[in-house]
Amino acid sequence: MQSMDEFNPYAAPEAVPPPLTNSGSAEATCWRDGDQLLALPHSDLPRYCVKCGRPALEYRKRSFYWHSPWLYLLILLHFLVYLIAALAVRKQAVHHVGLCSEHRKRRLNFIMMAWSSLVPLFGCFLFDSGAVIGLGILAFLVMLLWGLIGMQILKPKKIDVELAVYRGVSTAFLARLPRYPYRRD
Ligand SMILES: [Zn+2]
Repeated sequence: MQSMDEFNPYAAPEAVPPPLTNSGSAEATCWRDGDQLLALPHSDLPRYCVKCGRPALEYRKRSFYWHSPWLYLLILLHFLVYLIAALAVRKQAVHHVGLCSEHRKRRLNFIMMAWSSLVPLFGCFLFDSGAVIGLGILAFLVMLLWGLIGMQILKPKKIDVELAVYRGVSTAFLARLPRYPYRRD
């Protein structure tokens, strides 16, 4: 955060204002806003499971990335073009994030699911049948996407240098946070 001495009149208009003085949220680095979690991009979240709000068993540093959804249009051009552009412009946020034992286990299952999608992918080529190969590739895609989506801990809605906004957080966890006191565009 900037102090008033460093006030930059040319800063982006959506900059988060400095914390309100004499307010309970002056120390806060993460907030709730409706069903969204808002956090300073390099702040740690409270030590509770983000999926259910219970005390966290695992509390690990994790990186989250976001880029404008418009960038996906580049896939139509070429997947590599998209990939290079996405890596160049994506914004990063890093937080310590908590998971309870139950949600940690569930996430590991999704990771297993993503990896085991390789079995139908390679297995189907053992058969000399177009139908089996087609089914194998379909099973691979479904299992991979299911696993990748399920293993997500927080779903970034937007990340910039000032603020990271996430979905996919339980209301029980959000209830532990102060309400976001600033106006958002
Ligand atoms: Zn949990």
